[in-house]
Amino acid sequence: MTGASKALADKVFEPVPDEFLLAGNWKHGAGPATSVIDPSTGSELQRVGHADVADVDAAVSAGAAAAADPAWRGLLPHQRAAYLHRIGAAIEGAAPRLALLQSYNTGKTVTETGALVASAANTFRYFAAVLETSDEELTTPRGPYLTMSVHEPIGVVGAITPWNSPIASDAQKIAPALAAGNAVILKPAEWTPLVSLALARIIDETGLPPGLLSVLPGRGSVIGDAIVGHPGVGKVSFTGGTTTGRTLAHAAAEKLMPVSLELGGKSPTIVLADADVEQAVNGVLYGIFSSSGQSCIAGSRLFVDAAVYDEFMERLVAKTQALRIGPGREPGVQVGPLVHHRHRDSVARYVDLARSEGGRIRCGGTVPDDPRLADGAYYLPTVIDGLSNDARVCQEEIFGPVLVALPFHSEADLIAQANDTVYGLAAGIWTRDYRRAWRLARALHTGTVWINTYKQFSISTPFGGVKQSGLATEKGRTGIRAYSRQKSIYLGMDDAPIAWAEN
Ligand code: ADP
Repeated sequence: MTGASKALADKVFEPVPDEFLLAGNWKHGAGPATSVIDPSTGSELQRVGHADVADVDAAVSAGAAAAADPAWRGLLPHQRAAYLHRIGAAIEGAAPRLALLQSYNTGKTVTETGALVASAANTFRYFAAVLETSDEELTTPRGPYLTMSVHEPIGVVGAITPWNSPIASDAQKIAPALAAGNAVILKPAEWTPLVSLALARIIDETGLPPGLLSVLPGRGSVIGDAIVGHPGVGKVSFTGGTTTGRTLAHAAAEKLMPVSLELGGKSPTIVLADADVEQAVNGVLYGIFSSSGQSCIAGSRLFVDAAVYDEFMERLVAKTQALRIGPGREPGVQVGPLVHHRHRDSVARYVDLARSEGGRIRCGGTVPDDPRLADGAYYLPTVIDGLSNDARVCQEEIFGPVLVALPFHSEADLIAQANDTVYGLAAGIWTRDYRRAWRLARALHTGTVWINTYKQFSISTPFGGVKQSGLATEKGRTGIRAYSRQKSIYLGMDDAPIAWAEN
């Protein structure tokens, strides 16, 4: 742990005001309230009142007006970019507080939440830079006209985010959507609204014109649903589970509205016989057990060449058992609690299922016996093998610190098993043979492949899933286009009237 994160760990929880940002005003939620808990102790941090459906209406109307106002719509790209730069700087200025808040609410280590806050600030800066440097295109002339294709704002965009990395996923949607000239309505996940409310306050204080951002806490089936179904919302960007994503896509289809969906995964991590063992073991551990496995890109299915399987697994299990588990704010902790006791129980049920399917629990498979951790939502990092790839725990997303390991016997067998999943989010390959790595990378049906690294992210590189892991990509220079409408314009250059109409 760095000195900065140690200092953070010593700080106590400061509640955020129980108000949400609606159409430029701060409002106390009159609807039901969420009891926001600290998953490392199970105790309530504070309550957050929900917005209601009328608030969604008000946010959409204010958003539409603000997006159409010449004070926003009329800005030149570099002028709009200035707002994003200010937001990036303001997030950075509040970084320690935001990182601590997110650690309290999600259980993640302060090292991780510090990185997520930094990534949020950089996301605003990156999309400011993209905005200033995205040229519109003149298309090749095919007649006596000048043809061009321009990108225009959609109007009001909905952003629906999950509980695992709130500030980073909020920023990944708000920044490109604002950059493209829209207004945004953000609905954070019910369990983790705090950092999104704090982010809203920071953005509001930068002087963003009122109405361009509303942040409405509440249930997915109420507020999320109302945002998706609202006729005034022209696009929704969603990150969350595949089942919810599918429901949302159905609702969007009714309106013929575009959606971006970042969904679940069951990502294979592959260790070839020639891999650097220490690198591969560390990479596999980080890929599955960082964030306690609560990551859509977690490397949750491990395939190891049968020739080195026993030896590799021994090393992996030994290192898994040595991981330091505890509250995310404690110095040196690697694995924090799960986000909520209810989620911990769902992870535990999956491990019970693995047992009933005949799986061998190589380590973990229970809650820790440390009495200090008894009240938190902890679950020991767990490694399971002895199952085939069609077992439910090899096919379904567990979203917890649970790794299933399988040996493979040939490249063809490996590719078939790795691709035998409904998901297609990410994959990892550990080998010294770059030709083989390249061949495998091209054969895997996933949106991202990491070779000799894992779970690394760059805002400049597009990210998205295939198959049931999602629709469309986020990030990268094209990320801003996901929040734009393309319009083609023909500018006639002929002095003569159109001949057809002559008589
Ligand atoms: P997770 O498994 O991460 O909780 P969900 O897909 O359930 O994933 O939730 C992700 C986000 O989607 C949350 O903000 C949640 O409130 C929201 N959500 C859940 N159901 C719906 C729905 N029917 N319509 C819109 N948003 C929803």
